[in-house]
Order: sequence, then C-alpha cells, then structure tokens
Amino acid sequence: MFIESSVVCSDAMSDTKATVALGFDFDAVSIWLHSFEFLESPTKHSRGVFGVDVGTPRMLDLLDRLEVPATWFIPGHTIDSFPEMCGEVYDRGYPIQHHGWKHTNPANFETREDEKADVERALDSIQELTGETPSGYRSPYWDYSKHTLGIIQELGFEWDSSLMGHDFEPYYVRENWSADPEKAYDPGTETDVLEIPVSWHRDDWPPFQFILGADSQGGAPDEVQVFEMWQAQFDWMYDNVDGGVYTLTMHPQVIGQAPRPLYLEQLIRHMQSKPGVEFKTFDEIATEHK
Ligand SMILES: [Zn+2]
Repeated sequence: MFIESSVVCSDAMSDTKATVALGFDFDAVSIWLHSFEFLESPTKHSRGVFGVDVGTPRMLDLLDRLEVPATWFIPGHTIDSFPEMCGEVYDRGYPIQHHGWKHTNPANFETREDEKADVERALDSIQELTGETPSGYRSPYWDYSKHTLGIIQELGFEWDSSLMGHDFEPYYVRENWSADPEKAYDPGTETDVLEIPVSWHRDDWPPFQFILGADSQGGAPDEVQVFEMWQAQFDWMYDNVDGGVYTLTMHPQVIGQAPRPLYLEQLIRHMQSKPGVEFKTFDEIATEHK
C-alpha cells in the first residue's frame, strides 16, 4: 500500500512542471496595532475588520469556485478576535499556519523569552481553534531576530516561509552565519528547516495598500499592471525553472478590494490553463521536499 502510493506520488510529481502556492496573511487588525496613532484610530481598525467581514468571504468563495488550495497564515490575535471567520477558513478546508500572535516584528522583541512567548501564545490559539499543531512558520513582516530560527527549531516547526534566498526553489535555512561588516560574509550551515521563499514582488501589500503619510507610499498603481507582472513572473518560472514553486502572498483586506478578486481569478485561470501546473498547500510542498 505504501509502495503503491509512493509510485503514484512520484509519477504525479514528475508530471508537475510548476507548483503554485497561494498564501493569505490574514492579519486583520493585528497589523495596525504597532503604533499609538493606529491604536487610537477606529478608521485604521476598520481597515482590518474589512479583511474579516468582506475580504475573507470573497477569497474563500473564489478559492472554492476555482477549486484551488491555499494556506492561511493567521496571527493568534486574529484568531482570538475573530474566531468565527477563522473557524470558517479552517472548516472550508484551508490549513492555518503560524504568523505570530501580535504580528510583532521579531526584531522588535526585547528578549528571546518575549519572542518565544508570543510564538507559543499563537500556537495555543491555533491549537484551540483547529485541534492541530501548525507545521510552518511565517514571521510577521518577513523579518527574523537573531533568536527566531532557534525558537522555531526548538518548537518543532518543519518549514518557514519568510526568507528570500531563492525565488522559485525551496531551500534549507542556514544557521551560524556571520555578517561582520569588516570580514567576508559567512553564510553558515544548513539546518533541516525548509524555506519556501517569498518575495516583496509577489505580495499585494506594497503596491496596493495606501497608508496616508507613509514614506514608502508611491502613486496609485495601474492595478492591471501589477497582476500582469505577477503573471509574467509565473510565465518566466514556467519556462525557465523546471519544477519551480511560485508563492504569492495576499492579505484579505487588500486583495479583497474590488475589482482585485476578478483580476486574481484571471491570474489563477491563466495558471490553470498551462499543462503540468499544480496548486498545493505550503505543507504539501514541504512534505514533498523532505
Ligand atoms: Zn502579516
């Protein structure tokens, strides 16, 4: 039985020319918690609530209709604040993976103990909601402190999705690196934590999320052009990286704004139209690479 399923699996894998991993960072209000200005502003809160009441239902309906899997990275703060909608994500078949509790940049914790406590608190939130232990970690803001890797190793995470050492190929996170500016860079040694890499260029937040007064805020983008860029990146991977893994990061409060669900549907249908393209969860990808 095991051998038969292995054969089927490897046959299926050899037919897979490209893999797509859709990831939703369901930050809701948590991403707005990190400055006094935001804490005091019901308008800012409401932008997060939009992700719960409007963006997430739209995305779940789209995923269901197109029959594609997706992985939801949900901070414990979102789970504890909006258990009903997070439960619906899980009940409709979409796995929930780790994304911190308070969506604090790991580099901003004062001590290792504080960072670890936040990671453990989020584990409790996910376990309480789903009865399951997440296998993967995605750091808030895609940043690491000097303690982050050790903490996720200690807590038994099998994979991470926060780093950018490749674009379309998973690799193993390195430890014991040295970045002394007076010496040559030492990249360290591989751990057994698999990295499923991300990119700011395949993330909806930087091009689309307007924040009044933010230094990084450019002009309003040509929205179609952003989706065309994502499609061109996928097409390049399809043509040039055999067995490539394309990750796309979206936030319900951003991608759920009209008419982006339509553009996302067109992008997914384009990917589905190509021979040998499979959509998988991050955990499925990690399991295949082990
Ligand atoms: Zn996030």
